Amino acid sequence: MNSLSQRPGMKRRILALCLAGIAGTGFCMAEAQATSPFLIQESGFVPVVLDNQYKPSFTPPPPSFTDYRARRAPAAQVHISFNGSSCRGTLAAWPAEAMTSFQYASDIWASLVNSTVAIEVAACWRTDLSTSNLGTTSTNLVQDPPNAPVKNTYYPLSLSNHLAGTRLVPTVPDMIVDINGNSNWYLGTDGNPGYKVDLVTVVLHEIAHGLGFIGAFTVSSGSGSLRFPNPAIYDRFTADGSGTSLLSYPSPSTALGSVLTGGGIYFTGAAARKANGGLSVKLYAPSTWVSGSSYTHLDEGFNSTQNAVMTYSIGFGEAIHTPGPVTSGILTDIGWQLNLTEPPFAPANLTASGLSSTQVSLTWQDTSTNEDGFRLERTLRSSVSWQLLVSLPAGSASYVDATAAAGTGYLYRIQAFNQAGSSSYSNLAEAVTTSNINYAYKLYLPSVIR
Ligand SMILES: [Zn+2]
Repeated sequence: MNSLSQRPGMKRRILALCLAGIAGTGFCMAEAQATSPFLIQESGFVPVVLDNQYKPSFTPPPPSFTDYRARRAPAAQVHISFNGSSCRGTLAAWPAEAMTSFQYASDIWASLVNSTVAIEVAACWRTDLSTSNLGTTSTNLVQDPPNAPVKNTYYPLSLSNHLAGTRLVPTVPDMIVDINGNSNWYLGTDGNPGYKVDLVTVVLHEIAHGLGFIGAFTVSSGSGSLRFPNPAIYDRFTADGSGTSLLSYPSPSTALGSVLTGGGIYFTGAAARKANGGLSVKLYAPSTWVSGSSYTHLDEGFNSTQNAVMTYSIGFGEAIHTPGPVTSGILTDIGWQLNLTEPPFAPANLTASGLSSTQVSLTWQDTSTNEDGFRLERTLRSSVSWQLLVSLPAGSASYVDATAAAGTGYLYRIQAFNQAGSSSYSNLAEAVTTSNINYAYKLYLPSVIR
């Protein structure tokens, strides 16, 4: 028994439910789990579906991942238990390459999500899933974990642990990720899956569900309802096209069923909206409720965008190695802090030296791994007014300014930039071009250089 359960008033019953399966797999059944101080629901299985189309594309990992691999510690520890004791169904041994890909996708999340507590993932290589089902995730949900900002609400266990600062239910993984061992996987990590299905993309997708991209509404025989006694934190942010919270609808009701299958439901959290050009984020809401696909994915309009990883299906050739800003926004709204794209670090050790009467040679140290480029600026030393001299591509470390005037003193500075903003400036470097006029005449020039 967890020691927390001995605190008065803390002992509660645990339940475990399931979120829907994909077309053909149906609902997971409710089942009981061991006694714990926290009420737990198992979210159920949210799958990603095979889209039988060839959709070649590659979206690279986010800047946080590049930085993490270059020099940073991860923002979260993710512990993966391959075919661990929480796995269900028929299992086969994980191919070594598949474990590498799973780890790679986990590392992307570990670079993005700040968690005070290690995230425990059970990874199951299953051979009993239907052909169209590439993978599914079930997530344990905790009602009102310590420090949760919104009450009467279920939080994903991983986020609950983070908020509480401790692992609340040590016997239960935060999420169970099932991978269909019979699918036509591409097991590399280079985002070049050809005519296969990119495993990294699917794992990235599944872990997003596990972190809380998951809701608690369902529809049965036209009637919509909340499956749990309280909403999940995700449900606190969903609304119809008029901005009316779905939680305002009676549950169960045909009105709720209609809106959940009406093609017009939205995630309205501030961070998600900000990442979506100020607009509420349209969710997948086909006219026929599809358990595990409807409501807990982005609308199909996000296909072929940097947010495509959280659409309900993945095609052959589709490699999306970033959650994208919208999904990152959704996870931010539900309570995670993510390392979204940060401005690069400032270039260092800028040097400038006059090469001739018109040329100044510049060098600097590129100290960042996530820059999109550099902006080199110049001013006359005699009258400081900074002007952009040139924009240079990422990875640049030298430049020759061939537009200088003879016998003139200049100051230079440089900054790196990316989509999140600009670094601070480097040190200033100064140089004087050589004179191309005779010495005697130069003596009569006003001194612009000391
Ligand atoms: Zn999914």
